[in-house]
Amino acid sequence: MRSWFFTVRKRVVRRRPPPRAFYLSQKAHARGVAHSLVVKYAPRYGVLPKRIAIRNTVSRWGSASSLGNINFSVRIVLLPPELQGYIVVHELCHLLEHNHSERFWALVAREVPKHRILRRRLREWERQNTKEDSAGKRYRE
Ligand SMILES: [Zn+2]
Repeated sequence: MRSWFFTVRKRVVRRRPPPRAFYLSQKAHARGVAHSLVVKYAPRYGVLPKRIAIRNTVSRWGSASSLGNINFSVRIVLLPPELQGYIVVHELCHLLEHNHSERFWALVAREVPKHRILRRRLREWERQNTKEDSAGKRYRE
């Protein structure tokens, strides 16, 4: 009885893809999305990030360091393409302006003129999709 139970259970467990493998596949997908958008937009701003990292963050979509590295949440793969593009442009602009000043938003607007509408859409997406895993936390760009 006992051995039968374990055998069946093991078979069921083995049939499910391991969460780690799923995470790694999402991470590879996110890296592909981020890289192709950086290749598209970085030359338009004359910047070149030193390193692009994909992280398992829930509360932020991306970040940029003063060392010239940019990071994106693996969850970027869940977003529609125009929001992915906005997030990449946002972080690339932080390599030039490390703040959210008027100058920063003017830079963003050069490639994403409707960034205000997209930010509203992003907040809307967050409201609909992050109830159970964010526990009150809100994403930040
Ligand atoms: Zn920002």
